[in-house]
Amino acid sequence: MRFTRLRLNGFKSFVDPTDLVIADGLTGVVGPNGCGKSNLLEALRWVMGENRPKAMRGAGMEDVIFAGAASRPARNFAEVCLMIDNSERLAPAGFNDSDSVEIIRRITRDAGSAYKVNSKDVRARDVSMLFADASTGAHSPALVRQGQISELINAKPKARRRILEEAAGISGLYQRRHEAELKLKGAETNLARVDDVIEQLA
Ligand code: ATP
Repeated sequence: MRFTRLRLNGFKSFVDPTDLVIADGLTGVVGPNGCGKSNLLEALRWVMGENRPKAMRGAGMEDVIFAGAASRPARNFAEVCLMIDNSERLAPAGFNDSDSVEIIRRITRDAGSAYKVNSKDVRARDVSMLFADASTGAHSPALVRQGQISELINAKPKARRRILEEAAGISGLYQRRHEAELKLKGAETNLARVDDVIEQLA
């Protein structure tokens, strides 16, 4: 799965539409302190489904929307679009019928986030599954935040195992297992209720 383009609009300091082409090979982002380098990485994580405001260095998710500056009013929405090259048809089933996959996440004040894949409305879960199956995503160990290396060194074995599982590409399976376990629990609760009703009728 190769990222080819990242478009931002109203996301943090990127108030104007900004289109970045991600070429083959290594891409470096350079610039003075505070110019928005980390915001770019956060945009990538956000469009892949990050749902912890703290990981976006905010108190609430709406903090990713351009908050205004001395000469410009705040925006009402933020949008990030990620284009993925799918010429080798490696995207998961359901998203695999075109040469590129376009994922859009948009947040509107007081209305929350909405996602689209190739112009179709999808759920946050579909997007996180799409990336989990491709061994990447908002929590991918390939995206390294400042200070994350020391966190990793001090991490408990369980947390380190999660990182290894993501790298091995099995986190999507774990997510599905977790969902299956929740369904099973729901079915067990329903069965217990049926038993109660039968007992009352007997
Ligand atoms: P450094 O090199 O110091 O790590 P950086 O290039 O990574 O800096 P960022 O941390 O990405 O810079 O960007 C910080 C800038 O983004 C700050 O100027 C901050 O005011 C601005 N910023 C963050 N959130 C918003 C927002 N919601 N609205 C407007 N500006 C924002």
